Amino acid sequence: MIYIGCHLSVTNGYEAMGKTMLGFGGNTFAYFTRNPRGGKSKDIIPEDAQALSALLSEHHFGKTVAHGSYTMNLCASNPSTRENGLDMLQKDLHRMEYFPDSYYNFHPGAHTGQGAEKGIELIADALNRMMFPEMHTTVLLETMAGKGSEVGKSFEELREIIDRVTLSDKLGVCFDTCHVWDGGYDIVGDLDGVLTQFDKVIGLDRLCAVHFNDSKNPCGSHKDRHEKLGQGFIGMDAMKRIALHPALQNKPFILETPNDDSGYIQEIRTVRGWME
Ligand code: FE
Ligand code: FE
Ligand code: ZN
Repeated sequence: MIYIGCHLSVTNGYEAMGKTMLGFGGNTFAYFTRNPRGGKSKDIIPEDAQALSALLSEHHFGKTVAHGSYTMNLCASNPSTRENGLDMLQKDLHRMEYFPDSYYNFHPGAHTGQGAEKGIELIADALNRMMFPEMHTTVLLETMAGKGSEVGKSFEELREIIDRVTLSDKLGVCFDTCHVWDGGYDIVGDLDGVLTQFDKVIGLDRLCAVHFNDSKNPCGSHKDRHEKLGQGFIGMDAMKRIALHPALQNKPFILETPNDDSGYIQEIRTVRGWME
């Protein structure tokens, strides 16, 4: 089995997200640690965080996957953008201690003209400055579609970041199916081959979570436009094979498909149906 859920808004607090996901029929979820575009974060009330933890364990949820802000660019060429990103990363990682043993995933960054190699160095430097030995969070680098100057469009680039991070035992990867497909990995025609390649380059033990999205574009398009399950170029048969693949069992699968609540409820039901 896999754990399935979608992105939720933190507007009404943390325990409220757990209750919402129970109502949706899911058993994991994702949320933005702060406004994804503006960068502001909501204060955490310790009792609310504890209430969520109790709810998650009572209902046997999989690990939740917090998502860093889209505006956090750890390898921006603009110094103030990068400083701002470092500040967000530091605050996020400390706030994550309210939710021990969960995941924090983020987009590695966009090198904005400096080249992928420089980007990789700056991202690793940021992680080395802000991760701390006592932390209880596993930080996940997201596989990227390769839009613009995004770093992390290949398994090799993610490996290079991991190799440079001191606390790499606290690092993993979030496998976004739309991004991997858009990045040029044929998960429709050769899922086994792609996962074997992931294993060789990064190691499947680092694959901690899946962003479960269909894609509006063909393989290798580098576009990053998500589609509803079964309505894109990946298609329902391949989505099902991914969810049932032995290498991906017991992981949180997060829907980031363009849906309203009822659409997510339907997709969660579809995925759970595959597991019966
Ligand atoms: Fe993402
Ligand atoms: Fe994603
Ligand atoms: Zn995306």
